[in-house]
Amino acid sequence: MKISNVYSPNFDRNKRSQKSIKFLVIHYTGMQSERESIRRLCNPKAKVSSHYLINQNGKIYRLVMDNRIAWHAGKSCWGKYKNLNKNSIGIEMANKGHKFGYTNFKKKQLSNLIKICQYLIKKYKIKKKNIVGHSDIAPLRKLDPGEKFPWKKLGKNKIGIWHNLKERDLIKFRKIKIVKKFKLEFINKLKKIGYCFNIGKKGSSIKIIKAFQRHYRKELINGIIDKECLIIAKNISKKV
Ligand SMILES: [Zn+2]
Repeated sequence: MKISNVYSPNFDRNKRSQKSIKFLVIHYTGMQSERESIRRLCNPKAKVSSHYLINQNGKIYRLVMDNRIAWHAGKSCWGKYKNLNKNSIGIEMANKGHKFGYTNFKKKQLSNLIKICQYLIKKYKIKKKNIVGHSDIAPLRKLDPGEKFPWKKLGKNKIGIWHNLKERDLIKFRKIKIVKKFKLEFINKLKKIGYCFNIGKKGSSIKIIKAFQRHYRKELINGIIDKECLIIAKNISKKV
């Protein structure tokens, strides 16, 4: 695996231990061009960075060393963990994002992402449940890597958790309303998966439900808990 080094000065001065690395956080760059993204991730004034960036041709850049804390997650939460920068490796996928023209991720870009994830998972013994999107850990602020990101494909490669339900069976339960008791069950399953609900004011749960849908049920992202969402959440929560 070829990796090109590009230096970013945006990281904590203290080194971190190998065992403090517990998460992979996937992002999209959300900018017009690859050049612009790299420039921003290396600009000391921007105060943002990530460990890796993968461009649309699959070229992998290393911006920050793994043993340094990069600044990609921001205010975030997953399970018991808060503000995930110190415990995670951030990987940026070049994509214009929802703001500038969200496109499908490219084949080579994804195959190299899979390669580097497999390498990092092995090296740092990262658990499947700790492979997340930025929107999973910061659902009130973020949409990336977004609904075009193929979590199912990654799951097939043992990267992250995917359900083992048949899509043609699931679709029958889409938009099927459920009673309050089951909505509460759904929220509890999401908490078990890792989603944090004590992070915002009333009304923020819709954004968290959308983050779940963006990851696990991208065909309909409406913030409404239906039976399909519940079935998927139950299945995923059994695997964490
Ligand atoms: Zn992000």
